[in-house]
Amino acid sequence: METARLRMVRTGQWSDEQHMGRRWPVGCVALEVTQRCNLDCTLCYLSENAEAIRDLPLAELFRRIETIALMYGPNTDVQITGGDPTLRKREDLVAIVRHIRAHRMRPTLFTNGIRATRDLLGELAAAGLVDVAFHVDMTQRRAGYASEAELNAVRRDYIRRARGLGLAIMFNTTVFGGNFHELEALAAFFLTVSDDVSFASFQLQADTGRGTGGERPQIISPDSVADALRAGVGADLSFGIPGTGHRNCNRYAMALVCNGRAYDFYRDRQLVKPLLAATAGVVVDRQHRWRAVRAFAAWALRHPGYLPLLSRLGWRHMWRMRRDLVAARGRLTKISFFIHNFMSACQLERERVDACVFMAATADGPISMCLHNARRDDFVLAPIRMDVGAATRFWNPVNGRVQHDGGMGPPPSAAPRQAKGRARRAVARR
Ligand code: SF4
Repeated sequence: METARLRMVRTGQWSDEQHMGRRWPVGCVALEVTQRCNLDCTLCYLSENAEAIRDLPLAELFRRIETIALMYGPNTDVQITGGDPTLRKREDLVAIVRHIRAHRMRPTLFTNGIRATRDLLGELAAAGLVDVAFHVDMTQRRAGYASEAELNAVRRDYIRRARGLGLAIMFNTTVFGGNFHELEALAAFFLTVSDDVSFASFQLQADTGRGTGGERPQIISPDSVADALRAGVGADLSFGIPGTGHRNCNRYAMALVCNGRAYDFYRDRQLVKPLLAATAGVVVDRQHRWRAVRAFAAWALRHPGYLPLLSRLGWRHMWRMRRDLVAARGRLTKISFFIHNFMSACQLERERVDACVFMAATADGPISMCLHNARRDDFVLAPIRMDVGAATRFWNPVNGRVQHDGGMGPPPSAAPRQAKGRARRAVARR
């Protein structure tokens, strides 16, 4: 934890409100279990060689999980991602979830949902999966959907698939020139499903990987996205509290939802600030909201000195929501909004990479996701060292064979029908 705190100090991000280095030593670590995908999004961060790369052996993935556990400890969030992880064999996915859980970390499945059946989600939930994060947006070019509003039917279907399985449900949306104008309506939609959906993340367009979408239009920035989300939910959400790493990277906000109306949870910043630091050790159960509330209540009983502050905060919220609380007979939910400002491959900023809270697992340990995306082939094409008895061998991700040396060999050549992103465009032009 101290290493994380010092990184925040060095990059000028340490404050009373900062979670990195206080509540967690890393925001999350992405574990890419395949480079293959069943979509070809216009802003894909994968390499143009992705389709020709073999899936990492389970032994290597287990080794990476153990490295993450060693570095960051229990309750670390591990994202099972890719490509799309559901392209991996089902038994592999179950084994990966179990291994993460066995190290007391929290696995999240990141998927475009196409192959995420209720049956599969149920089996993964039984194996210890904590969350499912569905990526749904117009960069995916799903046939038959002409707007984010039309894609709400897909979102509702995915919610039905995951509802009642004990999973926290999240949605990821890439914000680009083609859907920025729909952000307000999308935020309003997420409010209507906040009974089921606890987290809505918005990733800003970045020119990295094989995607053909190019540079981000100037109109899109963390501030403009925050404004659109505020307008969409009809509340002046406090983005930026708690701090989640570098302020130019991430903005977090939380809304209490009552009778369909949103209320800014962090509105009373001065009252909240001391509580953020004091409750940093309370583990939040994302799967069972009332268990999370009980955990905080138990903390408050063990720390009676904070009771006056907590009751002042509670009464302020209740007073603001009084009419809606009556109308909703006290029913209250919450939804978090997150803005993630990925950097384009040619615009990496040293300070932000040093303050990164969103890491990607590699053979040599976790590194910043932005850095990983910018140099992806250096990592995904590199042969993986494997100790076979007393001998050292290397697994080659291009041909899937074990070899004596760590030489990369020629880059893979994906068949034209496999080509995606820019490569696909080049094939189409021939
Ligand atoms: S450096 Fe990139 S991946 Fe890391 S937190 Fe910042 S925007 Fe996210």
